This record gives sequence, C-alpha cells and structure tokens, in this order.
Amino acid sequence: MIRRLRTRIIVFVVALLAVVQVVAYAVVSSANSINAREKIDAELAVGERVFARLLEQNRERLTQTARVMAADYALREAIASDDQDTIASVLTNHGRRIRADMTLLVSLDHRVIADAGDRRGRAFEFPQLIERAADEGGASSIEIVNGRAYQLAVVPVLAPSPMAWIAVGYVIDDKVVSELQQLTSLQVSFLDRHERDAQWRVLASTLGTSATALAAELPALPSAALVHSIGSDDDEQQLRVITFEEHGDRAVVAVLQRSVATAVAAFNQLQRTLAALGVISTLLSIGGAVAIALSITRPITQLTKAAARIQDGDYSKPVQLSRSDEIGALAHSLNHMREGIAEREKEILRLAYRDTLTSLPNRALFHDRLEHAIENANRTGRTLSVLIMDLDRFKYVNDSLGHGVGDHVLREVALRLSGLLRQADTIARLGGDEFAILLENVDERYVTKVALKIQHALEQPIRYEDQPLDVGSSIGIAHFPEHGENSSKLLRNADIAMYVAKRNKSGHAVYDASYDTHQQQHLSLLSEIRQALEGKQLRVYYQPKIGLGSSMIEGVEALLRWEHPRRGFVPPGDFIPFAEHTGYIKTLTRWVLEQAIQQCEQWRAQGLSLRVSVNISARDLLNRELPDLIEKLLDRYGTPAWLLCLEITESGFMEDPAHSQRVLERLHDLGVQLSIDDYGTGYSSLSYIARLPVQELKIDRSFIKQMNDATTATIVRSTIDLGHSLGLKVVAEGVEDEVDLRTLRLFGCDQAQGYFMSRPIPAKELEEWLRHSPWGTTPKRVMSPEETSSKITVLRTGSLRKI
Ligand code: C2E
Ligand code: CA
Ligand code: CA
Repeated sequence: MIRRLRTRIIVFVVALLAVVQVVAYAVVSSANSINAREKIDAELAVGERVFARLLEQNRERLTQTARVMAADYALREAIASDDQDTIASVLTNHGRRIRADMTLLVSLDHRVIADAGDRRGRAFEFPQLIERAADEGGASSIEIVNGRAYQLAVVPVLAPSPMAWIAVGYVIDDKVVSELQQLTSLQVSFLDRHERDAQWRVLASTLGTSATALAAELPALPSAALVHSIGSDDDEQQLRVITFEEHGDRAVVAVLQRSVATAVAAFNQLQRTLAALGVISTLLSIGGAVAIALSITRPITQLTKAAARIQDGDYSKPVQLSRSDEIGALAHSLNHMREGIAEREKEILRLAYRDTLTSLPNRALFHDRLEHAIENANRTGRTLSVLIMDLDRFKYVNDSLGHGVGDHVLREVALRLSGLLRQADTIARLGGDEFAILLENVDERYVTKVALKIQHALEQPIRYEDQPLDVGSSIGIAHFPEHGENSSKLLRNADIAMYVAKRNKSGHAVYDASYDTHQQQHLSLLSEIRQALEGKQLRVYYQPKIGLGSSMIEGVEALLRWEHPRRGFVPPGDFIPFAEHTGYIKTLTRWVLEQAIQQCEQWRAQGLSLRVSVNISARDLLNRELPDLIEKLLDRYGTPAWLLCLEITESGFMEDPAHSQRVLERLHDLGVQLSIDDYGTGYSSLSYIARLPVQELKIDRSFIKQMNDATTATIVRSTIDLGHSLGLKVVAEGVEDEVDLRTLRLFGCDQAQGYFMSRPIPAKELEEWLRHSPWGTTPKRVMSPEETSSKITVLRTGSLRKI
C-alpha cells in the first residue's frame, strides 16, 4: 500500500513535469519553426529589394553609359561615315569603363553593326527590345544570349532621328549571384524556361550542382511565382520567385531561397538547451519526488508498523516520531490510543482473569497458567503439582453469619495462602470456597509440606469483629505427570483427592488411582441404583430401639439394604453418599419413608405400636417439598405423625442451616419426631442444637464403642446429662455387649440400639424376634410425646435406683 502511495507520488510529479516540458518543448519548437519561417520570409523580402535595387543600379549605369555613348559626336560621325574602327574603339572604351560584358551598335534594321566582342553582322537577338526603346526612348531587360543571361539596356543614337541603337549589357553569371548571396545571405539562382522543352534551365546559381534539383521541382509559370517552398523536412527550402521576362515561349526568373533547416538551426541550440534543461529538471524532479514521497511514506510506514504492532497486541513500543506536522500529530494520537488500548486491555484482562473479591487469578487464568506450566514441564522434563482446596465449614459461616462475613473469610484465606507461597506459585480462587494452587518444579515432599502448612494456617481461627471463626480446609493433590498428562485430568484428579480428604477428614490427600476406580464404581452405581429400585433389590431392615427404663422395645430404625444380583450385599455406606451426591437420594428417601410408614401401619394393625425412625440426609433437608411429602404419606396410611421419627445428621443441617431450620420447623409442626443422629462426630454445639425443634439425640456409636476409656465414658455421661437438661431423649447406638448396656443405663441413657439386642433385620424376622427376645414384649402402644416427657424422669430415677 505504502509502496504504491510512494510510486504514485513519484509517478505523478514526474509525469506532470514531463508533460509540461514536452508541451513547452513543442510550443517552443513550433514557435521556432514559425519564427524561422517568418524570418526567412523577411530575409527573402529584403533580398528581393536588394536584388531589385542592384538590377536597377545596373540598369541605370547601363542606360547612362549607352546614352553617353549615343551622345558621342565622334560615334555619330563614325556611324555616318561607317568608320568601323572608330565605332569599335568608342564601344570598347565606353564598355570597358563600366566593365560591360556586352556593347553593341545595332543598325536600324536590327543588325549588329559593331560588337565589342567582335561578333558583328548578325541579327540583333532582341528586336522587341529595340521596338520598346523606339517607343520609350530607351529600354532595358534581361535576356538570354548564347545560354547566358544578360541585363541589357538599349538607347537610340539620335541625329536627331534615330540612326542606330546602342545596347550595353552585363552578364548575369555565378559571380553576380554569389555577390548577391554575400549581400543577402540567400541562395540565388537564375533560370530560364523554353516553351519548347518546357524545362527550366539554370543560368547561374549559388547552389552549385543542387541547382538542377531546383530546376526540376519548379513548376511552370505563373504557378512558379506562387511557390513558397520546395523540398521537405531537412532540405525544405523557402523561396521567392521573381519573374523578369515572360513573353511568348520563354521566361526568365530569379529564385531567392533559403533552407528552413539552416534558419531553424539557429533556434536549435536554444531547443537543445531547453531539452537539456528538461532532462536535468526531470532528473531533479524524480529525485525530489522520491525524497518527498519518502518523507511522507517513511513516517506512514512507521505508523503502519506501529498500528500493526498494536493490532498484534504489542503495546510496549511507542511510535517514535517527533514531528510538528500532521503526521506528528497522528503519531501522537496513535501513541495516546496505544496507551488507552493497553490500559483497557489490562483492565479487561484483570476482569477476565482475576477474581474480584480476592484479586487472585480466577479459574480461567489458572487454567491458562496450568496449560503453560504443563507445556514447560513437557519440554524441560520437570514436575508440577496441583492442589485443590475447599473450606470445610464455609457454607455454614456464609449462611448463618451473612455474605459479608463470608467475603471477609475468603479474603483472609486468600491472604494467608499468599503469605505461605512463593512468588512464582499461582494461587487462584476457582469459585465459592474453592481455591487452587499450582506449584512448579517441586518434589512431592515439598508439596505435602505446603499442604500441611496451609492446613495449619487455616486451623487458626479467622477473626471477624473479634469473633473467632473456625474454618478448616481439605486439600486434594495431583502431581504431573503421574496423575494426569493434561490440565483437565490433573484438576479432576486433584478434585477427587480433595473429596477423599474431606470424607476421611484427613486434611489433605494425594490422588490415588484407587479413588478413581471408586469413582468408576460410583458411576456405574448410578444406573444400577435406579435398576435396584425398579428391580426390587432394595429392602428396608429394621433394628429395634430398646427403652433402657422399660427394657422393652420402643421403636425401630429403618435401614436400607441393597442385595445386588452380582455384587451381593452392598452396604449403605457405599451407595448412600453417592446417591446424595447425585441427588438420587430424594427418590430413595421417599421410597424408604413409604416402606417404613406402610410397615408401621401394618404393625399397628397387628396391635404393635412401634415408632419407626427413618434416616434423612442433608440433601433431603434442602428439599422444600419434604414436609408436604411426609404429610401426604402419613395421610395416605392414616398413621399418626408422632409414630414417625426422622434422624438427621449434624452435617445435614450445617449445609444450609437457615433453610434446614425452616424445613425442620415445618416437620415439627406436623408432629413428626426429630432426632440428631451421629451426635459427637460433628462440630455443632449442644447450644446450637437446643435451638432446633428436636426431641432426640443419638450418641454416635464411636463413643459407645470406646466407653471402657474413662474420658470417653465421661463424655458420654455428660452428653446424656446435657441432652436431658435440654429436654431431649438420649439414645445410644452401637451397643454390642451387656457391659455397654449396663453402663448406659447407669448413665441414665433413655434408649439403646445395637447388635447386642439385634442386628437390623427384615420386618418378618423382627416380628419373630419380638416373640422370643427378652426385649420383645412390646407395649400395647408407644406413648405419645406428652406422656413420654412426664414418664422420662420417673424412668430415669427408677433406673438409677436399679443400678
Ligand atoms: P446410622 O443412621 O448411624 O445407622 C446405624 C448404623 O449402625 C447402621 O449401619 C447399623 O447397622 C449400625 N449398627 C447398629 N447397631 C450396631 C452395633 O452394635 N455395632 C455396629 N458396629 N454397628 C451397629 P448401616 O445399616 O450399615 O447404615 C449405615 C448408615 O447408612 C446409617 O448410619 C445411615 O447413616 C445410612 N443409612 C442407612 N439407611 C439409610 C436410609 O434409608 N436413608 C439414609 N439417608 N441413610 C441411610
Ligand atoms: Ca440413623
Ligand atoms: Ca447413627
């Protein structure tokens, strides 16, 4: 483009100049040619006048001499006496005086009496001249004699009537014409023409041999008089034809001529100078045009390059053009634009690649960096590791204390992480409470150390307005290349490891292939669970809950069982978390609830009032429709609400405490019993639980198992006491032997559940168990809550007394 602009400028300037010069040259040369012709014309006119004057002078001289001769007395005497000698000497003397070429005495009968050239006796060639002289007293003309042109003058010798004629003449020969040429600087030729052969004949000429050419070209008179030029181009001759005599068959003309070429030659020097000037100025203009074009296009090229750099996203180099003209101004604004774009792009990148809350890189940037790092690692053979970290109790903080506090926690976490890591490490917030760390070029021991350091740093409570907040972390680690050769695989595996760490409460976990097979199994489980429900592979087993005061069965816990056609018995711990993860738990819970309520109703029909406890998972508590569903089921089977108990784990309502609380309250309003399951494994304090509308506390079996340990026993005992002080019924699960049972009874625990009494069994077997077991004699009906609360104290005091 630029090259074209440059050529265009050059071509335009040069072409313009060339055209001007060609036109000027043409005008000048045509003016020259016109000038030359006009000059020749003028010269020819002058020549003609000079020529005429010369002839006139000659004529006068001839006539005068002839008259002097005619007046000579001696001559007249001699003529009268026919004295030839005297005549001859008079003629010769006079003729010599004027250097005449011809001096004749002609008789009245036109015979030459005497001739200075001694050719007498012949007839005088020009009788008509004598006739004119007779009429006019004298005559002159140019005549041809013996092939030579003569200017003749004829006068009479009077005595007093004419007695003879005197003719005096000059020959017109090459000498004459060359004299004329010297005077006029014209070529002069004399030609005559005979009617006989219609040919011009050269009489005398300054042209030399080329005179014949003139003779050949000259047309016949009168047109010859009109001819102004002959020949063409280089030998073009401009001419003037002067006609002297034209009578009858003959004509005599003088041709004055001048070559146009020689006249123009004088101007040719001027033209050559002009041409030379033209060439020089054209060359100069080419140089100038190139210089101007470059001075315009060079900065434009620079600007174009700068613009191309900007287009390629390189904003680092400013345009270096310090000029005060428009191009300088353009460069200046281009620089401004460059800075503006650079700034905006930086801002766009910041927005696109930064998490606005923590200013850490976001998921997109982390991805980019990870991909880069993997490329590098592939090239250099170095290692890298990805850590994915999830805060453990963030949702609780966020929901119960508000988003402001949540944001504060996230910022503080980001700060602590940044403080722990090297400048070169990438820390990103992937979203929510999930962070990712990229460590390059480190060994596995170092990565583990980092993970431990992070865990430790996040174990220190985060303070918010002087209130300590406890958030822990779970970290999953994946190493490149062992745990994935690309970024998505690494991230996925670090994520899997993180879930394992969370589940195992181990703080951190390095990815292991077995986790994956676990997950693979889980994936296939998803479709299998659906089939399980349709294919009737699922059962509900019941495990009795024994009243420690009454030593009788007071209720049952419904527990899900899966008899897989290939895998055999699949423990609920293996598929329930997965069902929770996929959301399928909703379906399972509904199914178990229906089974349990149905069963409860069947037993009631047989006169057995057994309260059925059903496990509800965290996911269910997020389901707004759960209360409606339960209400419908109870209605459908006509079961009183207090015969149903729902067991909820702490983590269940910690996921989203505010929402869970509302669901729990609605369930409570229905009259359904609520129980806190696995109490002691979570973090919730009893004071928090006290705010929930629950009636029962189930101490986790891990405590019961270790009751031979004094500390654990104390914990169990105080938990029971605390539960009672909050008006809760306390249940111990995992009672495997009589010692446990006794101890619990001693501690005042209300109910016990465990293998010692019975494993979870199908309903039919349970009915069998009821008939034979010492705890099997069921009360005719379970007490309603109102009755129970008054009874508890009685039972407790009673049992205490018993031990
Ligand atoms: P969980 O709610 O704590 O249920 C009690 C678990 O303790 C049952 O395990 C039961 O078999 C076991 N158990 C009872 N007595 C003893 C004992 O003396 N010693 C030992 N070692 N264990 C005893 P199970 O049936 O394997 O269920 C495991 C977990 O699966 C349950 O723990 C519960 O959280 C979940 N689960 C079971 N069924 C359902 C269900 O229908 N819905 C939901 N959401 N969760 C269920
Ligand atoms: Ca339970
Ligand atoms: Ca439990």
